[in-house]
Amino acid sequence: MDAQSEVVKRLRESFRSGVSLPENFRRTQLEAMVALLRENEQRVLDAMHQDLAKPKFEVVLSEIDIVMNELRFAISNLKTWMMPEYVGKNLATKMDDCFVRREPLGVVLIIGAWNYPLQLILLPLIGAISAGNCAVVKPSEVSPATEKLLAELIPKYLSPACYAVLCGGVEETKKLLEIKFDHIFFTGSQSVARKILQAAAVHLTPVTLELGGKCPCLIYGDLDVQAAAKRLAWAKFFNVGQSCVAPDYVLCSQKMREALVPALRKTLETFYSSCPQKSPDMARLISQRHWARLCDMLQRSKGTVVIGGETAEEEKYIAPTVVVDVKETDSLMVDEIFGPILPIITIETLGEAINFVNAREKPLALYIFSDDSEVVTAVLERTSSGGFCSNDGMVHMCLPGLPFGGMGASGMGNYHGRWGFETFSHRRGCMLRGWALERINVLRYPPYTESNLGW
Ligand code: NAD
Repeated sequence: MDAQSEVVKRLRESFRSGVSLPENFRRTQLEAMVALLRENEQRVLDAMHQDLAKPKFEVVLSEIDIVMNELRFAISNLKTWMMPEYVGKNLATKMDDCFVRREPLGVVLIIGAWNYPLQLILLPLIGAISAGNCAVVKPSEVSPATEKLLAELIPKYLSPACYAVLCGGVEETKKLLEIKFDHIFFTGSQSVARKILQAAAVHLTPVTLELGGKCPCLIYGDLDVQAAAKRLAWAKFFNVGQSCVAPDYVLCSQKMREALVPALRKTLETFYSSCPQKSPDMARLISQRHWARLCDMLQRSKGTVVIGGETAEEEKYIAPTVVVDVKETDSLMVDEIFGPILPIITIETLGEAINFVNAREKPLALYIFSDDSEVVTAVLERTSSGGFCSNDGMVHMCLPGLPFGGMGASGMGNYHGRWGFETFSHRRGCMLRGWALERINVLRYPPYTESNLGW
């Protein structure tokens, strides 16, 4: 038996022993994860700096605090989530106990992406632990410093009998996917997601897919353009645009564009100075390969660069860039950008902008910036997407009360807060029945007569 199978076998034995089930065990593991983060904050910061040159604030906000919040939320709600949910009864079930029982799925596999390399492993793991599962996590090999840190810290703080880290790239992950798991939770690209689904089909394993795509930001009606530029630029250039929920492109009228571009220029200068390459608040692209992909996209674009455009290969740097006169067939409009390039497409009316969005794959997030609540409502009601946020970007994913996930090409299933617990639980419909009222059952037993129909 190979090393990966040995690990999964060990976790399966632990799961069968029932050790991961008691509320107290789950709580202790969640508390251990709190300690992991508290006691290793500097090491997390260092790893993220090595992998992505992430500024401290961005690491604290999007990797540490978000996980801490979810941990606190899970710890304080665990008991309630685990309670049986009693359902309505009818005359025939009046004497029975009828309830939904949340049960763990078993041994689950969590595969993470590199752009938020800690969060994308620990947040699903909170759901898996809360629901009583054992879990193998597979961090991304593309962010090696964080991968190494997780491989060291998870077994040190959490129960090694129930949770394991398996590292590796494509080949190792392919081998891992040959093993039967009870659920696969995958965060990554649409192309790899297809391979995950194919591998899962062999064992009929249920799958959650947290994918990407092009998240539109519509800007229509009256609004404070300077405030809009700040919120848009923050959401777009946080982690240099390497966020699955970053606004991918803007749709607005020509008049709005004329006000927006100078407002964005001013904002970017305030955020990152006139030389963003020297700004400590600007992270870096993950690799030279990702840098080259973005440069190629930009070079092939027929649009006009009005802000930024500078690049430096050795630093994996691309300046925060805004491109206008972008047509829907442009190189920037084919794939998810996932970098610091913001195309602006001019579409005069809100109705046409909605049609533009609806003609494409369903995005992970959809943003509308407007002071007019009718505009916001129209976009909310006439489009669909994984998540929705008006007058800001990305912030909706920080609230544990909201489910986070995509639909269609941006993914299937969701997590965060209770939704993570649900994703990793089986809802077992239970009816506890005694022997009372046996006389009434005569009505359903053969031999059937017309009077049976009164049952
Ligand atoms: P990726 O699909 O290349 O890799 C994701 C994981 O899959 C990694 O752990 C990798 O080792 C593994 N993998 C890669 N190729 C594989 C193969 N052939 N077989 C099996 N496993 C394989 O994605 P990425 O580049 O790490 O992440 C970027 C993508 O993830 C973007 O599309 C982004 O939008 C998306 N994303 C989505 C979310 C979300 O929550 N919805 C969050 C972050 C990133």
